Amino acid sequence: MNGMMILISAFVLIAFVLVVLYGLPLVIRWMQVRRWGKGSGKLALTYDDGPDEVTTAAVLDLLDELGVQATFYLVGFRGEKCPTMLERLKTSGHQLGTHTHMHKNAWKKPIWFEYRDAMRAYETLGSAVDARSSYRPPFGKVTALTMIGMWLKGRRVEWWTVAANDTRDSFDDPEALAKKMLDDGESVVLMHCHHVEEHRRAFVLGLTRALIEQSRGRGVELVMMRDLYTKGDEPC
Ligand SMILES: [Zn+2]
Repeated sequence: MNGMMILISAFVLIAFVLVVLYGLPLVIRWMQVRRWGKGSGKLALTYDDGPDEVTTAAVLDLLDELGVQATFYLVGFRGEKCPTMLERLKTSGHQLGTHTHMHKNAWKKPIWFEYRDAMRAYETLGSAVDARSSYRPPFGKVTALTMIGMWLKGRRVEWWTVAANDTRDSFDDPEALAKKMLDDGESVVLMHCHHVEEHRRAFVLGLTRALIEQSRGRGVELVMMRDLYTKGDEPC
């Protein structure tokens, strides 16, 4: 084999590995969202990036007031900084999952980083989560390496069907946005429960209230993520 053939073979091999590492999770994400489907009659409210002392507390207060259970994907280092809020979440009855320890974009770090950081969160979040708690990758970016690692431990990797885009600085009217999400039959709404900015916090609270009230008006069942799966589903 001459030098050129070796070079081409190496290039093809690297390209294949990259496609598997980064492309496979995209296919699985597409399949997961498709399986949840549109118009399932169920809606899961999900909150990433907590805990913090202000926004997480406000979201929990609102959910308590309205009698709804939701799903929170927690960041390890914030759990370490806010042990009181972590304890409140743990005893709240809401479903808790992990969202890595450092909250970095897996596609912008070395390929081994995310797996280690994702696993670390199961330690730093302590008994707030358990060995089978599901995992949501920050920014939705995950590598096949992490997915395989999670599957081997029996953990689901979970995304969402619609994002509230509450990390922006201008928002749609919460009532109108909730109506659109429900009209579209969305099943999983991504919001965040860590906001320093008051306007973002107010938007999340307004949208949460609107989604709950409108869901009840339409007979849409408000569920936690685990309730979206039917018995026998493989972790995905
Ligand atoms: Zn996040």
